[in-house]
Amino acid sequence: MTDSRHDVTIIGGGIVGLAVALEITKRFPRLRLLLLEKENRVGLHQSSHNSGVIHSGIYYKPGSLKAKLCVEGARAMVEFCRAHGIPHQVCGKVIVATHEDEFPRLEELRRRGEANGLTGVHAIGPEQLREIEPHASGLRALVVPSTAITDYGAVCSKYAELIQTQGGTIRTSTAVTGLRQLTGEIVVETNGPAFSTTFLVNCAGLFSDRISRMAGEKPDTMIVPFRGEYYDLVAERSSLVRALIYPVPDPRFPFLGVHFTRRISGRVDAGPNAVLAFRREGYRRTDFNLKDVASSLAFPGFWRMVARNWRSGLDEFRRSFSKSEFVRALRRLVPEVNEKDLAPGGAGVRAQALKRDGALVDDFQFVAAGKMLHVLNVPSPAATASLLIGRAIGDLAARTFGWR
Ligand SMILES: Cc1cc2nc3c(=O)[nH]c(=O)nc-3n(C[C@H](O)[C@H](O)[C@H](O)COP(=O)(O)OP(=O)(O)OC[C@H]3O[C@@H](n4cnc5c(N)ncnc54)[C@H](O)[C@@H]3O)c2cc1C
Repeated sequence: MTDSRHDVTIIGGGIVGLAVALEITKRFPRLRLLLLEKENRVGLHQSSHNSGVIHSGIYYKPGSLKAKLCVEGARAMVEFCRAHGIPHQVCGKVIVATHEDEFPRLEELRRRGEANGLTGVHAIGPEQLREIEPHASGLRALVVPSTAITDYGAVCSKYAELIQTQGGTIRTSTAVTGLRQLTGEIVVETNGPAFSTTFLVNCAGLFSDRISRMAGEKPDTMIVPFRGEYYDLVAERSSLVRALIYPVPDPRFPFLGVHFTRRISGRVDAGPNAVLAFRREGYRRTDFNLKDVASSLAFPGFWRMVARNWRSGLDEFRRSFSKSEFVRALRRLVPEVNEKDLAPGGAGVRAQALKRDGALVDDFQFVAAGKMLHVLNVPSPAATASLLIGRAIGDLAARTFGWR
């Protein structure tokens, strides 16, 4: 038995699924939209376990989806927060080179920023760095004035409120367990009733690859969960950091390296690292799920990734288990930081798509298949870019499904 019939169903109430629902309810108000979320609230996973940064778009390859959707998305996110009274602050950030080897990469970032249309990005020396961040140390830095901070959990709640005002339905505590394609309809099976829908958009984050397999697809990628662990700077030492202090990222990885982030709450945290997790949605080091581990081990790309990156992977594991190693990485940016200044903080788990050849998928990836769209890779900066991702998926749906 299926419950009421819908035109379009979205799986996943993270910031991406919500942004897609927001766009569809606004642009195609006649469509009956249903969003299904397995948790009892929206935005509980990646979308509220992140650094809360509205990224400027400086890091991404010019012409990539990440670059396009992040730069415009950052402006849209700041505007959205302003319009809806969501706390945010355009505080800017510094990217700090602590070794001469990093100068060419810093210069490449400056060029990317320019190519991506950012304004105001400029290089500074150690004295100017100390004027901006008195406790930071480095040989050279880039100032990125448009970087901002917000609370993405609050953004998700506002998206959900607007979707419902615009006529969409959100069902929480409803996990999708199966998909059946019949003539003219898709039956969405859940832990509760089944639903009938004409179109479906898969925005299931850490489970997006499994949902696409459930739909009969054979995606060329698999989600690998990377846990990111944070420490909090204790309140008495939070004055060591005014805004955001980042290292020059390693171009081999999509992660940015441990950094200092002032949160919109005023707290400062340090991190996140990037450690292979043994459980999707596993926030503790000891979390383990046999199915998650077995599916990783069975994917050929996993072993190729390990073979290529075992050395840096081991470094990340060491930093995960040893506070002094973590502090050593942070001290390159702020030498005054000591172990006793850091208290254990939270953690997040990134959904990163991995290819069969062992390479991590760099760009956002959306795949159309019949009457379904699968959002298969939306790591950082997808929270920043969410409104523009919603628009891009809306465009793709209009083209693929013939919506007007
Ligand atoms: C540590 C960390 C730091 C980050 N920092 C930043 C940052 O500073 N700035 C930035 O822009 N981005 C950042 N990101 C990235 C950003 O948070 C994510 O790209 C974004 O939240 C992805 O959103 P999502 O909706 O795809 O995923 P999620 O938020 O994970 O949502 C997916 C949803 O699908 C639901 N779901 C899964 N399976 C099912 C099912 N079978 N049935 C029903 N529901 C299901 C889940 O419960 C979940 O709510 C960070 C991410 C992490 C992990």
